Amino acid sequence: MEKIIDIQHLSKDFGSHRVLRDIDFSVNKGEVVSIIGSSGSGKSTLLRCINLLEKPTSGQIIYNGENILDDKHDIYAYRTKLGMVFQQFNLFNNHDVLSNCTVGQVKVLGRSEEEAKAVAMKYLKVVGMDQYIHAKAKQLSGGQKQRVAIARALAMEPDVMLFDEPTSALDPEMVGEVLKIMKDLAESGLTMLVVTHEMDFAREVSDRVVFMDQGVIAEEGEPGKIFNNPEEERTKEFLKRIL
Ligand code: ADP
Ligand code: MG
Repeated sequence: MEKIIDIQHLSKDFGSHRVLRDIDFSVNKGEVVSIIGSSGSGKSTLLRCINLLEKPTSGQIIYNGENILDDKHDIYAYRTKLGMVFQQFNLFNNHDVLSNCTVGQVKVLGRSEEEAKAVAMKYLKVVGMDQYIHAKAKQLSGGQKQRVAIARALAMEPDVMLFDEPTSALDPEMVGEVLKIMKDLAESGLTMLVVTHEMDFAREVSDRVVFMDQGVIAEEGEPGKIFNNPEEERTKEFLKRIL
């Protein structure tokens, strides 16, 4: 299998607090990986180090065979390869749906307005939000906002999508519509890395589940193994608490 992201000995400190400890972790092309674990275990920091929203303290991130922490590497070009979906959507609330989905394409990728609109429409259709292009983001429900945020990320046509608890800020009745889109994306062959508390999603949709505890990957494996037959005591304890 072809590794698209290969992380070696990744550590991250905030001051004297070591939040990630010597993490080795890789993602294969087309793979869907769920990251689970207690609050504070370092899941978000791991995603943020992967897309360089945080600078790793030490270690390597190899992307398609290239060490992207190397000084001569173009991190801006790298970042465009990774789409990010946040818990809090991070939309421009006073902008309409269409412009939320075009601005990055124009500013970062240098696409024309016309092309950006066409691409945005394509992905707004994928998430079922093409009827709302002139609505302001702030007028949308949480589920609709998150669907727009997914379309915005997809419109950049990234190689990998990173999701950080995309349904945690949603009212319960809206969780399903977002998970359904993520499931469809997973089945389409997109490479996805998903931090989630939705254990049904992790179990049913992912190829692999990674359990993080106190800054390390305590255990990883196929969902069947992690959920039905975990080896580590701390995995068992975590699952007992949340299932
Ligand atoms: P998770 O996403 O698993 O809940 P995080 O990666 O957000 O965990 O946080 C891991 C640890 O790092 C926590 O102790 C948190 O307080 C700390 N942390 C995260 N971001 C920062 C930051 N910018 N500055 C200082 N500490 C941080
Ligand atoms: Mg987090």
